Amino acid sequence: MKILVTGGAGFVGSQYVRSMLAGEYVGYENARVTVVDKLTYAGNLTSLPARHPRLDFIEADVCDPHEMMAALPGHDAVVHFAAESHVDRSLLSARQFALTNVVGTQNLLECCLRAGVPRVVQVSTDEVYGSIESGSWREDDPLAPNSPYSASKSGGDLMARAYYRTHGLDVRVTRCCNNYGPYQCIEKLIPLFVTNLLDGKDVPLYGDGQNQREWIHVADHCRALQLVLDRGRPGECYNIGGQVRLTNAELAGRLLALCGAGQDRIRRVADRKGHDRRYAVDDDKIRRELGYQPLIPFSTGLADTVAWYRANRRWWGPQRQAVRLPVTAAGHRGRDNGQP
Ligand code: NAD
Repeated sequence: MKILVTGGAGFVGSQYVRSMLAGEYVGYENARVTVVDKLTYAGNLTSLPARHPRLDFIEADVCDPHEMMAALPGHDAVVHFAAESHVDRSLLSARQFALTNVVGTQNLLECCLRAGVPRVVQVSTDEVYGSIESGSWREDDPLAPNSPYSASKSGGDLMARAYYRTHGLDVRVTRCCNNYGPYQCIEKLIPLFVTNLLDGKDVPLYGDGQNQREWIHVADHCRALQLVLDRGRPGECYNIGGQVRLTNAELAGRLLALCGAGQDRIRRVADRKGHDRRYAVDDDKIRRELGYQPLIPFSTGLADTVAWYRANRRWWGPQRQAVRLPVTAAGHRGRDNGQP
């Protein structure tokens, strides 16, 4: 079994690769993994096991047909994580999002078709449905993305649908809520807040802090992806939900408590342009069809995540200089925002 993982040096992709190589996925204990990653600011080779006998790495761009046609042949499946993933960046420079998330996905699907790759998982997000005041989105609800990030992910999802419908390529789409866990770039909310607190800095909270998100541990997300890869149905979409829904203010409170800091460390900043108020997915389908359920309780997972950042400054410390964070539409440096 040979699995090609795009974006495998990023946050979620590297978790998937580590879990696969650690033998956590039944039936795939001996699988070989090829990571294809462009190593943008968000890609980090130190998130992957060093010199693992079943791991190959190719530095390549999913938008490049020649590079993909060289990498893909001989693989049994592709799990497509590679993306531009930070909403704040998409507010400032949407072009790269359209290129990677739409054109890159189309190019990858076309090359999978030509190379005869039998199965593809398109890893997408609950953000494609847009904001929902109450209740939760189902897979057959219409897409109504509001940011250039979620619009570009929607474009990728629609390409996946088109390649299934038109060409019969076996593509399955997953739409997951917000992930947390180790090895996440410090531009995103949880690592940003934790590393700021560890460094004695304030944490910035957008607007009134009442935007609500659903949270899942990254390892649970990856287990769900593996179920979809292994037993999902071609051409289908699967929502992946988490264990809790929290406002950003509630989440900030939990992080302050875990880091031993007081409420006075919260600094209110102007709201993000077009900030979606609430995301929530109904994941009854994957639970019913594939027996999925998240296993990591939020309180344990969050405490472990904070402990990981505390213990792994060597991993994130260099990002303070290396990751150039954007000035957001609200006029604040991305480093100071980082909210999902
Ligand atoms: P990330 O930004 O941490 O990682 C993205 C990876 O893709 C990086 O390693 C980067 O180098 C690579 N990459 C970017 N452009 C590329 C290109 N053109 N060619 C090859 N590689 C390229 O993102 P993440 O948080 O790990 O998200 C991974 C996927 O999961 C994305 O598709 C995202 O939409 C989806 N997702 C993420 C979350 C979340 O909460 N993090 C939730 C739902 C869905």
